[in-house]
Amino acid sequence: MGLLVDVRGLRYRYPDGTEALRGVDFQLEAGETVILLGGNGSGKTTFTLHLNGLLRGEGEITICGQRLSPGTVGAIRRKVGLVFQDADEQLFMPTVLEDAAYGLRNLGYTEAEARKLAAAALERTGIAHCADRAPYHLSGGEKRRAAIAGILAMEPEILVLDEPTTSLDPPGRRELIDLLTGLAQAKVIITHDDRLARALGTRAVFFNKGRISATGGVDELLDRFNWRE
Ligand code: ADP
Repeated sequence: MGLLVDVRGLRYRYPDGTEALRGVDFQLEAGETVILLGGNGSGKTTFTLHLNGLLRGEGEITICGQRLSPGTVGAIRRKVGLVFQDADEQLFMPTVLEDAAYGLRNLGYTEAEARKLAAAALERTGIAHCADRAPYHLSGGEKRRAAIAGILAMEPEILVLDEPTTSLDPPGRRELIDLLTGLAQAKVIITHDDRLARALGTRAVFFNKGRISATGGVDELLDRFNWRE
């Protein structure tokens, strides 16, 4: 019932032949926040890019009961909000407000509706005061909030975040952790940030060479793999 993500036997090879995923099974229930741990190159980012169909490997992916396929990918992209590691990849409109409204306009909302919902999302991420500014002039923390606002505006069921606290200073990290804690969506978070993992994670999985090699409590896995900063 509460199963939001069901991944079975996922395999993916990049066009250059690199075998990035070698059979991943993963489930996410409503209310969970799962932390993805693992070394560089272990397949975490490649895995998350499959959750809304940006990459398509072999295996089965079911999101909110819908099997991912060319016919369902549009609907599934509304359910799975992906926040990239590099906010600059996500922010490209002249102003922060237009950026947050961009996805909604693509979904067919009128300009006025899209702006209204986008403004509410900027409010929620604490960045409404930057609405009319150019995204490239924002600080790292503000950019991250702007990128998250653009995703939240579409009201996804699931949030997927790739290293959301990278390059933030300690106050910026704390603010981001507070922001994420207040969001009700189930989450999948790639992070090396011990504090973030412990504050938000209800469970962790450990990626190793394209597979999930361990799953358990966040503290347990962090300790087991000595994944501390
Ligand atoms: P992680 O997120 O855990 O650091 P990635 O998913 O980025 O791991 O990478 C998994 C594997 O796929 C690595 O061997 C990496 O070098 C490779 N890889 C990632 N992106 C590409 C790409 N665009 N083309 C070829 N190989 C890639």
